[in-house]
Amino acid sequence: MDEKMRLLAAGNLLEAHTWKGMLESSGIAVELKGEALLGGVGELPTGIQNVELWVAEIDLVNAKAQMISINAEKPQWKCVNCHEVNEASFELCWNCSAERSEKYS
Ligand SMILES: [Zn+2]
Repeated sequence: MDEKMRLLAAGNLLEAHTWKGMLESSGIAVELKGEALLGGVGELPTGIQNVELWVAEIDLVNAKAQMISINAEKPQWKCVNCHEVNEASFELCWNCSAERSEKYS
C-alpha cells in the first residue's frame, strides 16, 4: 500500500522545498501539499501560505528523526543585515538574500 502521512507544516514554500530536498537526499520521498500550491501566483499573501510535507507511512518515523537531527545539528541563524531569523538549512537570508554569517549574536 502507499499510505501517506503528514510529517509537518512549513511556514512557506521556500522552507518546504528546503526540507523536502534534505529529506530526499536521505532517500525519503516527500510530497508537498497545501493551499499555496493551488491557484495562481500572487493570490495569497506570503504570510499565510500553508505547505505540508507528506511522506509514506513507512518513512514517517525516519523522516521525523531526520528533521530532529537537521534542527539539532544546525541552529537557526540571524541575518546580520536585516536581523531576520533563518532556518539552519538556508544559506542565504530568506528576507534580504544576504549571505549567511557564521557569527551568532
Ligand atoms: Zn536578511
